[in-house]
Amino acid sequence: MDRSLRFLGGRLWVVEGDPAEVVPRVAADVGAQVVTFNSDVTRWSAERDRRVARRLAQPPLGCWGTLVHPPGSVLTARGTLSRVFTAFHRRWMQIPLREEALPGPAEILGAPAGSTLGDLHGGRPSPWSEADALERLRSWLDQVDHYHEDRDYPAEDGTSGLSAAFRFGLLSPRHAVVTVGDHTSGRAAYVRQLAWRDWYAHLTAQNPDIDRVALRPEYDRIVWTSGPDADADFDAWRTGRTGYPIVDAAMRQLAATGGMHNRLRMIAASFLVKDLLIDWRRGERWFRHLLVDGDIPQNAGNWQWVAGTGPDAAPYFRIFNPVTQSLRFDPRGVYLRRWLPELAGLGAKAIHAPWKAGPLELTAAGVTLGVTYPAPRVDHSTARRHTLEAYRRALNRSGTPEDRRR
Ligand code: FAD
Repeated sequence: MDRSLRFLGGRLWVVEGDPAEVVPRVAADVGAQVVTFNSDVTRWSAERDRRVARRLAQPPLGCWGTLVHPPGSVLTARGTLSRVFTAFHRRWMQIPLREEALPGPAEILGAPAGSTLGDLHGGRPSPWSEADALERLRSWLDQVDHYHEDRDYPAEDGTSGLSAAFRFGLLSPRHAVVTVGDHTSGRAAYVRQLAWRDWYAHLTAQNPDIDRVALRPEYDRIVWTSGPDADADFDAWRTGRTGYPIVDAAMRQLAATGGMHNRLRMIAASFLVKDLLIDWRRGERWFRHLLVDGDIPQNAGNWQWVAGTGPDAAPYFRIFNPVTQSLRFDPRGVYLRRWLPELAGLGAKAIHAPWKAGPLELTAAGVTLGVTYPAPRVDHSTARRHTLEAYRRALNRSGTPEDRRR
């Protein structure tokens, strides 16, 4: 950004301190006629922006550059926010896009002489710039037509990798929607994901406690496991030592890189909530702490989806089987081998569930369960039953719709 600004005759100033003090001071220093900023839906940022606004001589101009449609703008005919994503998406697609991202200024004035602005903090390395994000979007156009077929396979490079660019405002999602369009199945599927993103922002604007309170309040009656055993389980999950390779590989990738494929986020989150019966809020905080694209609306919204506690979420009785998921979405174990070198010698089937491998295969691969790689922390079928009981007790249900149909 500094490079782009210098090209136009200005530069980036990084000033630290309480925004309510710093922003008005800088605005006065440079003789700003208007202060503009990107609005945000979280309680914390809305409060910060209000505090800053109160101290400025002129009301600032808030924009919604990080969303396609601002919160409160995609509503049902009755003027409410839909609790069903498909209805939200249908309406979202009908709303004309606000103007394309505005062109940048042709020239930027530097800070006036005598300004108290300090120097740009000694060139902190930034992994990404606006130019990188635009370049990534351009090259993504060669792949996007296959998105609907490739997006679920973590070993492939089948997704755009742009979430952090959207999250930090390097790239306008509106610009992405206009550039991609929806004239092929892959493109329509891609743009639909950006509607999910807007939906979670809408939900957060309406429910600022989305990271703390179940959006379906009856789910807050679930009795989650707690105490030292739950802490040990949480630790095993956090550090990638659950004994379920797909969960462990995903959690190790998260710790090493701050990234994780969407399919793996669903599998790892589901394992914490529905196999270990640990409160989704603990997992949400851990993910947010590490994810490079981590933010409250998207992270908490998706965690509530996985836990079944949000509107239009995965039904609580649908519980991912981590081994089946692993076999389906990483059939040759390519992704697993990348992150679990200690299992790399196992065959394409055994690597998904090493405890099912015969002693000969384990020995030949140099795997000793409980020594070189953990034995499974829980038995999935038992854990599943236990979780269903806990959910049913909270919801006062005697059987799942699936059970009743049987
Ligand atoms: P692509 O597949 O290329 O998708 C395009 C864009 O659509 C993404 O960049 C993203 O902005 C948006 N998108 C895709 N999937 C979703 C989704 N399920 N919900 C909302 N927006 C979506 N995304 C975040 O941006 N921040 C988070 O903190 C976050 N936490 C998550 C936690 C869990 C438990 C789960 C299941 C999903 C989470 N996601 C989050 C959504 C999704 O996993 C990431 O947006 C996606 O993996 C980013 O990779 P990509 O840019 O290659 O996505």
